[in-house]
Amino acid sequence: MVNNDILYETALRQFDAVAEILHIEDGIRERMRYPKRSLIVSVPVKMDNGKIKVFKGYRVQHDITLGPSKGGIRYHPNVDLKEVSALAMLMTWKCALMGMPYGGAKGGVECNPEEMSQDELERMTRRYTTEIVQVIGPDKDIPAPDLSTNTQTMAWMMDTYSMQQGNTVPGVVTGKPLLLGGSRGRAEGTGRGVAYMVMEAARVLYKDLRGLRVAIQGVGNVGSVAAKLLNDQGCNIVAVSDVSGGVYNSKGLLIPYLLHHLRESKHVAGMRDTDPITNEELFELDCDVIIPAAIEGQITEKNADKIKAKVIVEGANGPTTPEADKILQDNKVFLVPDILANAGGVTVSYFEWVQDIQYYFWSEEDIQRKLRGVMVDTFNKVYALSNKRGIDMRTAGLMLGIGCVAEAKKMRGLYP
Ligand code: NAD
Repeated sequence: MVNNDILYETALRQFDAVAEILHIEDGIRERMRYPKRSLIVSVPVKMDNGKIKVFKGYRVQHDITLGPSKGGIRYHPNVDLKEVSALAMLMTWKCALMGMPYGGAKGGVECNPEEMSQDELERMTRRYTTEIVQVIGPDKDIPAPDLSTNTQTMAWMMDTYSMQQGNTVPGVVTGKPLLLGGSRGRAEGTGRGVAYMVMEAARVLYKDLRGLRVAIQGVGNVGSVAAKLLNDQGCNIVAVSDVSGGVYNSKGLLIPYLLHHLRESKHVAGMRDTDPITNEELFELDCDVIIPAAIEGQITEKNADKIKAKVIVEGANGPTTPEADKILQDNKVFLVPDILANAGGVTVSYFEWVQDIQYYFWSEEDIQRKLRGVMVDTFNKVYALSNKRGIDMRTAGLMLGIGCVAEAKKMRGLYP
């Protein structure tokens, strides 16, 4: 189980280090270290067996200096206040880095969705939404899907919020079904952005993308889309894994068949023409690119030195510990950090929110062109700063994101 205390400490340590480099003044630094608002709620749910079970829910808004806060909702047994607070802080830096008029937030419910029926998940989602209804809204805080939540979860949240307002409010959440004000390209946004970042890393390091051997941990929303797009671009996806283990083929997996197999059997294990591997072995494979796209804390001081890939593109949030970061830097691994690599999701979420509040919807081509433009521009900014200052891509990305929020706070001043 990932230690959320470590995740939270890591987020603070990263912030402190960058605040030092940027010489952010003490008062502003202090204000940026803490969430603006943290809400813990009890979520009582009538289970299918008639018994009442009370779940613990969270919504943390780290910052709203640049606009309403934005961030996903996760359903997972490991969710707690520390985890959600750390991820909310990362969202603030991510939104600022990507040039969006948002602050950062994160929420979740401590539960095991794999053991719950659809009806139970719906009742839990509706009650959780009701418990946080005062702090969310299209101008306040806009949730989106994350681990084990999806378009259906967002449809329930939008409906619950709208029922309580008395009118339909599509802009209260993003990642909704298309019919309910969702955006074209949102479901694939994060994975597509990850694929663009692999392409950019290949451009600056290898010149050619074709034939690159890629291993992906986690083939959910993010990992499966990245696998498909990179396969279409001529990469060899040699290994993928999920919570139950992984599969490997040195010549490359047949991705259309993998996606079919996933639809049929839910897990990657047992896919034909593959050898089984563990999640630990996946990170040690002889390959060019690794995409961690599962959960936090997967690349640590225990396995960082065994990584042979020269590129890591962080699809997941917080998959690398600071100790591992140091080892990877010493080993000259080029790492595209989470706040940039997986920002395709929040970028298309932003497009969705803009479309919702204008009631005017864009084509798939528009979305893909704008997404690629934002991702590649931001990659270039981060890469240029990392080269100019001789620093790693994570520090450069954080400097741009944190610097922007600090500057905005300074301009706004302290109320009252
Ligand atoms: P998901 O639930 O769709 O898929 C998660 C995948 O990871 C599944 O294949 C699951 O089996 C696997 N997994 C879970 N626990 C694991 C473990 N202990 N070991 C190995 N594999 C494990 O989730 P997702 O939406 O694809 O999100 C994946 C990551 O990307 C998360 O860190 C999330 O915060 C981040 N992220 C997601 C989005 C988005 O738009 N969905 C946006 C930004 C960041």
